[in-house]
Amino acid sequence: MRKFKPESLMMSHGYHPEWSEGAIKSPIFQTSTFEFKTAEEGKRFFEVAYGHKKAEPDEQTGLIYSRINNPDLEILENRLCLWDEADEAAVFESGMSAISTVMLEFLNPGDLLLMSSPVYGGTNHFTKCVLNRFGINLLEFSAFDDIEEIERRVMASGLAEKLAMVYIETPANPTNAMVDLEAMAELADKFSSASKKVITAVDNTYMGPLWQHPLKHGADLVIYSATKYIAGHSDLIAGAVLGSSELMSRVKALRTFLGNMAGPYTGWLLMRSLETLKVRMTQQAANAEIIAEYLETHPLIEKVYYPSIMRKSDQKLDELMKRQCQCNGAMISFDVKGGEKEAFVFLNNLHLVKLAVSLGSTESLAQHPATMTHVDVSAEDRAKMNITEKLVRLSVGVEDAEDLKWDIDQALEKMKIAAMT
Ligand SMILES: *Cc1c(COP(=O)(O)O)cnc(C)c1O
Repeated sequence: MRKFKPESLMMSHGYHPEWSEGAIKSPIFQTSTFEFKTAEEGKRFFEVAYGHKKAEPDEQTGLIYSRINNPDLEILENRLCLWDEADEAAVFESGMSAISTVMLEFLNPGDLLLMSSPVYGGTNHFTKCVLNRFGINLLEFSAFDDIEEIERRVMASGLAEKLAMVYIETPANPTNAMVDLEAMAELADKFSSASKKVITAVDNTYMGPLWQHPLKHGADLVIYSATKYIAGHSDLIAGAVLGSSELMSRVKALRTFLGNMAGPYTGWLLMRSLETLKVRMTQQAANAEIIAEYLETHPLIEKVYYPSIMRKSDQKLDELMKRQCQCNGAMISFDVKGGEKEAFVFLNNLHLVKLAVSLGSTESLAQHPATMTHVDVSAEDRAKMNITEKLVRLSVGVEDAEDLKWDIDQALEKMKIAAMT
């Protein structure tokens, strides 16, 4: 039998029409609880679900209650596993609940969390304003720090023995700065011992499940805001975590008791989204290449932060991306000539591209990181990360590339006129 590609299996994998009157698509199993055939069966399902007894090699965990398991989530999780070749996946009601559940499961009071910077604003807030209340120490590094420097800082913290997790977001939002996943996984191994494994967790939202596979580069867990590329239509909030069965059973157990799993309707919508993941993302990346190239030569644009442009003059980035990514992605940031005023004139005059945060959706979205998504980052850190007043972030959608170019071009023209008056 041929090993089919994930995109070939997204319409059918893990679902059998005989479960539902021959329906070609999985119905929405909008139910809170499931009937047991016998009391003995109910007893067995609980034994396995609560880990009191091990499941037989090909025994499925029986359906009990939708906080523990639901067919729409299970089929979706099986499909998600195919892209990253993970053993298991868990779907959450948001990207933030996926991230916070992973951190709460693998960090204890007194532990050290080593985290890349910048990270998503919600992650930044959770680590600095919530985890600190539980005595979890945070040490940050940036994509610009070399690995020896990061190791020295861990040693100098006096908490090297308490290092429990390396958390990475790459490429960094909004400037596409890249962290070397293999080097960071090696660093985590160095600080691991027989009794303590340092977990490497990667937020892979920016590249989506198509263009970067952290588990293949030494990461233990990969996390997504499924709100972005995976859902892809700006119509729902969800998250996902993937990894080995050993780690995922812990993630799923905490999810059961926090009760932050996604509901069946969200699961069903995400299955629908997955069918077009490859075509959407492929079109988005092709559009992004065209737009980045156009921006690079535009007289009103100072600098473009898009991998295919940046790697031309940065050999180290080029080598890293060849190893780690299959594509340059569909997120472009760029500096307009001027500052906040010029950037706002540009944003206010877009017609086709919508002025909104979020990313990875079918429609193109633009925003101003310094005053919007990254307003919580200190001015000093913003300067270090090139998040200036003149920076605009663009998430490229599936529209016609020439229409997008036209829209950007006419908004830049308005910016020029405003500068003259
Ligand atoms: C949006 C986002 C999140 C948070 O996900 P939600 O689904 O909004 O909770 C986390 N990480 C990154 C990189 C994101 O873009």
